Amino acid sequence: MAVLSVSGLSKSFGGVHALSDVSFDVEAGELLAMIGPNGAGKSTCFNCINGQLKPDLGSVRFGEHDLVGRSPRQIWRLGVGRTFQITATFGSMTVAENVQMALISHHRRSRALWPLASSLYMERAHELLSAVGMQDQAERRCNVLAYGDLKQVELAVAMAHEPRLLLMDEPTAGMAPTERIELMELTAGIVRERGISVLFTEHDMDVVFANATRIIVLNRGRMVAEGSPADVRNDSMVQEIYLGAGSTFRAQASALEAADA
Ligand code: ADP
Ligand code: MG
Repeated sequence: MAVLSVSGLSKSFGGVHALSDVSFDVEAGELLAMIGPNGAGKSTCFNCINGQLKPDLGSVRFGEHDLVGRSPRQIWRLGVGRTFQITATFGSMTVAENVQMALISHHRRSRALWPLASSLYMERAHELLSAVGMQDQAERRCNVLAYGDLKQVELAVAMAHEPRLLLMDEPTAGMAPTERIELMELTAGIVRERGISVLFTEHDMDVVFANATRIIVLNRGRMVAEGSPADVRNDSMVQEIYLGAGSTFRAQASALEAADA
């Protein structure tokens, strides 16, 4: 069953066709990776889904709702969560307070309650922090955390909103390779457990092949391939695109094949 159905999505900026007639579904419980070289249209696609941009053409169906024309806040309220490329935590607040704040916002309680009720949602916040492996750092201020730890807090904040679909545009940008794999494995475990679907972009093919259940490939605003990680890895057009962009895709693909054999 499709959680999200994108159909005929197009968006131009002046003469640049950032997205041309892109259609795909995100199925329940899947981790769908959207890959493609820089400028392929991935962020534009995410922004058309989350309401930051209005597509020129096409529809984005989420359950019974058409998301096109709704504000980012309305879309987020309907259950489309996202993590941010620039971390969106309050630096002077503690890790636990950031998650509590997200819970207060999710349950539409007034932030004015905050000074009176710092114990509000404490237990739930700690549950979420333990799910992302950050319970030990619950009382630290976010502005002293390592970057990778902040990403884990961000995931807990996103989960506080109980999304049905999570959009992650380059969630591991700026992280070391081992940290990237860990963050996506953590994400995969949490979303599987809760039955949440994920659409993510990622440059690191090791992370993509390790965690995606399915992959779609964009190039110059068009969808050029779609399939299982094995199919996409062996797709000659995909290898061409990545070679053309000067990437080590083919080397990575054959290394993975060797590892599988
Ligand atoms: P990706 O995320 O795959 O790297 P983007 O969606 O950011 O690609 O960009 C797709 C194309 O659209 C690029 O050519 C980019 O320069 C252009 N583009 C994206 N956003 C804007 C914008 N706000 N104004 C003008 N051009 C844009
Ligand atoms: Mg992008």
